[in-house]
Parts: sequence; structure tokens; C-alpha cells
Amino acid sequence: MNNRQLFLQHLAQTTDFPLMIEVEKAEGIHLFGPNGEKYIDLISGIGVSNVGHRHPKVLEAIQGQLDKYLHLMVYGEYVQSPQSLLAKALCDTLPEKLDNVYLVNSGSEAIEGAMKLAKRYTGKPNFISCVDAYHGSSHGSLSIGGNEIFKQAYRPLLPGISHIRYGVVSDLENINSDTAAVIIETIQGEAGIRVATTEYFHALRKRCDETGTLLILDEVQCGFGRTGKFWAFEHFEFVPDIVVCAKGMGGGMPIGAFIANKEVMGVFKNNPILGHITTFGGHPVSSAASLATIQILLEEKLIEEVEEKADLFKALLVHPKIKAIRNQGLLMAVEFESFEVLKPIIDAAIELGVITDWFLFCDDSMRVAPPLTITKEQIHEACAVILQAIEKVFP
Ligand code: PMP
Repeated sequence: MNNRQLFLQHLAQTTDFPLMIEVEKAEGIHLFGPNGEKYIDLISGIGVSNVGHRHPKVLEAIQGQLDKYLHLMVYGEYVQSPQSLLAKALCDTLPEKLDNVYLVNSGSEAIEGAMKLAKRYTGKPNFISCVDAYHGSSHGSLSIGGNEIFKQAYRPLLPGISHIRYGVVSDLENINSDTAAVIIETIQGEAGIRVATTEYFHALRKRCDETGTLLILDEVQCGFGRTGKFWAFEHFEFVPDIVVCAKGMGGGMPIGAFIANKEVMGVFKNNPILGHITTFGGHPVSSAASLATIQILLEEKLIEEVEEKADLFKALLVHPKIKAIRNQGLLMAVEFESFEVLKPIIDAAIELGVITDWFLFCDDSMRVAPPLTITKEQIHEACAVILQAIEKVFP
């Protein structure tokens, strides 16, 4: 059997529409196939490769750690410098109040940890999240997810969860003194890139303060420079109680974190109740890669260029078939009439050498979230291919 046959025969499938792109190597913004195929990657493994594939400084950090040790002990017992240095670097990017980092393996696990922490700290039972939110695929993170179709097969899910509409100030009244936490993506990703206003976030912060509710921001997809600020919430001038991150954090390696105040996080160490135990959380190799990723984002001034690059995409992606473009920096959704119109365009673009896809809860829109290292020339090249793909499907 060849690789494609093995993929279909022995790997559990997650969708009826796997992209089935066979990759032998990746470098920068490009993926390379076994038969000389060369693709521009406009999705970055869903917001992961913000510093590009195999950034030399990430590889160097990984290699350096490989020479020292791999896994030593479950998270939180031994003193491992990659973890401590990463925690310090993360805190340096955040407001002073967010000074304590819990390292885990993924976005879903970070959400689970943040939810447990909020329950434990507040002693309250309920959560509020948003319609059309995506927070992960484990039972807790699925429970706060905002799409019924994805949840119905897995009931009963966690009790005490209700949903409000993202960005709608009047819905904030539903937050009350029984609410442990509001969990919200700063910018809704899988809903197809929705951006709330500064007024909304200020009203949300105020309502959480009034009701003694923790405000948890999911920055798994929008953090790590993707929107033109290190953290997306910096666009809106407020400070959350807990920040959750993963994806772009590892520069291609698996890692996640939830970050809070030392006093809040302190409840996890009150024995004998277990806090959150994780064997591989903050794996030293991933932590070293993550520290390098932060340094690259800050030193190579990638974040400063995000807005300009996003504007270039918007200026170039003009076509009667394109209905709208929603974005915050290089987290972009290009809207078409329907999935039926979009899907053949995506297939044609891949055929022509540009990889894009659609969103979990918004299948009429094309995902455009390239590595932040993409150059202006490469943006011209990618947009020309997308327009060519549209013309090919709808001559
Ligand atoms: N939150 C958001 C906003 C996400 O986009 C994702 C992943 N798409 C997650 C959480 C879950 O992350 P993971 O797949 O690493 O568990």
C-alpha cells in the first residue's frame, strides 16, 4: 500500500473531506510533496506555524534541548529550566496581574485546566460561553462549545453551562453571582472570524467584576502575534483573569498553557484535592521551542508587519465571487456565497499550489492565516493563485 492508502486504511478518519495533501518536507511558508509539489501554506496547520515551518531558531532550541534531556517527570515536580524560562517570558508579554503559568499539552487541556481552576477558586458551579464558540474537543471544552450539532451525540455533557451571543452587550445580563467564569474567544475563530468591539469587552469586564466572575480568554487561535498584537485582547484595552493559549505557542511543537494570577492559581496546590495533573504538560522540548518562538516574534518584528500584510491580502482579493473579508490581522475569513461555491475553489487552489480550507462553523468562508513570515511578494503570488482558482471554477 502507498502512503495515501495506508492513511485511509489504518488511520482513524476525522472527516468525510480530508485534504489528503501528502507532505514530505516543510520550510517557511511552503510545504513540499513527494512528487515535486510545492504549496504555499495559507492555514499554518490552523494557526500553529506563526513563525513559519521549521524556523531555524526553533530547530536550534529543540536540538539544544535534545542534547540535555527529554521527559523527566510529571509537570510541577522537578525544576526544569525550559519551563521556568518560558513561564517568565510569557509573563513578560502580559499585564503584571497575569504572573503565573500552568503548562499543559494542548488547547483543549488548557481550557479544561482553566475551567477547573475557576470552579475551585470561586466555589461556584456555572459557566457561560458563546454561541458558535470552539474551545476544544474534550468533554469539558466540548460542553462550553457553542455549536449544538457537534455536541448532541455526546450528551450528557457538563451541567451548568449556558450560552450568550458573542459581542452582544445586552446578553451580558445573564452573567450572575453563580457564574464561576465566562469563557470567550477574544476573536471567534471557527465561527468564521468574528470581532467584538472594545465597548463589548469593557462591558464584559465590568459585569464579571460586579458578579465575582472570572473572565477567561481563549487565545488559542488568536494569540501569539496572529492579529498584529502579541495577544489579541491588547486590541481592546482590558485585562482578563485567565488567558488560555496553545497552537502558535510551540512554533510547531505541542504545548499549551493557562495563565492567571499567582493567588488564583494558588488554590491548585491545596492538598489533598488534586489540581490538574499532567504527565507531559510543558514538555521540555516543546518549552524550549516555545521560548524560541516568543523570541522570534519579538525580535524579528513579525507582529508589527501583520496589519500591513493583512491590508495587502484585502487589497488583492477582489472579485465578484468574494462577498466580504472579515479579519483581525492575519486571522482572515474570505466569504463566498456558499460551501458549494467555495469547496471547488479551494480544491482548485490546492491543485494550483495554495492551501486553504474553511471553518468548522462557517463553511462559506475561506481560511486565510499564513505564517506571519510570509513576504509581500508571496502574498501577491498566493492571491494571484486564489483569483486564478476562482476563474478556473467560474470562467
Ligand atoms: N480553542 C480554540 C479557539 C481553538 O481554535 C482550538 C483548536 N482549533 C482549541 C481551543 C483546541 O485546541 P487543541 O486542538 O489544541 O485542543
